[in-house]
Amino acid sequence: METITKEQITALVNLQQIEIDTGSIKTNLNNVDRRLEKLDSKLIAFKQVIEEQQSVIDELNQKYRNYEADVRLNLDSIKKSEAKLSSVKTNKEYQSSLKEIEDLKKKNSSLEDDMIEFLDDLEQAEGSLKSKEAEYSELQKQVNTDKEIIHRETEEGKRQLENLDAQWKTICAGIDTALLKTYNKVKSTQNNDVAIIAVIEAVCQGCHMNIPPQMYNELQRGDHLTKCPMCQRLIYWKDTSKRSE
Ligand SMILES: [Zn+2]
Repeated sequence: METITKEQITALVNLQQIEIDTGSIKTNLNNVDRRLEKLDSKLIAFKQVIEEQQSVIDELNQKYRNYEADVRLNLDSIKKSEAKLSSVKTNKEYQSSLKEIEDLKKKNSSLEDDMIEFLDDLEQAEGSLKSKEAEYSELQKQVNTDKEIIHRETEEGKRQLENLDAQWKTICAGIDTALLKTYNKVKSTQNNDVAIIAVIEAVCQGCHMNIPPQMYNELQRGDHLTKCPMCQRLIYWKDTSKRSE
C-alpha cells in the first residue's frame, strides 16, 4: 500500500470538488443555446396566434364588403324597377314589378341583419386581437429579461470556470504525480467521476457498504492510500465526532 498524508487526501478531495463544480458549470453553459432557443420559440408561437387572429379579421372584413356590394346591387335594381313602374302598360306588369321590388327589399333587409351580426363578430375578434397583442408585448418584455439573466449567468459561469481552472492547476501542482495518476485512473472507472469518497462510521459513502473492521481501523490512521473493496474508490476516514465541522 502506498503511503499518503492527510494533506494529500485533502488535496485530492478539493481537486475532485473543483472538477465536479467545473462539470456542472460546463453543463449549464452548454444549455444556454437551448434555453435561448426555447424563449424564441415561445415568442414565435405566440406571434403565430396573433397572425391567425388577424387573418380571421381580414376574412370577416372581406365578407362584410361582399355583403355591402350585394346590398348596393340590390338597391340599384330597386331603383331601376321603380323607374320602370311609370312606363308599364298592364296591371299584370305593374303587379309583377311591385313584387320584384318587394322581394329585393326583403333580400336587402335580411342581408343587413347578417351584416349587423358580422359587425358583432368583427368587434369581438378585434377585441381579442388587441388583448393578445398586449399579452405578446408583455411576453416580449419577459423574454428579454430572461435573456439578460441568461447572458449574465453565462458571463458569471465563464468567470467561475477561469477561477476554478486556476485553483485546479494550483492543487494539481501540489499533488504527487503518481498519486494524481492513481486518482485519474480510479476516476475513469467510475461512471459518476467520483474517485475519492469519505467513509463515515465504517460505511463507504460511495457504495454504502460496510468497510471491514481491520481496514476501518487502518483507515482512521490516514497514512495509507486505501480503496473501498466494493466500489474500488479511494477512501478516507471522515471523523463525524467533531461537531465543530
Ligand atoms: Zn465503496
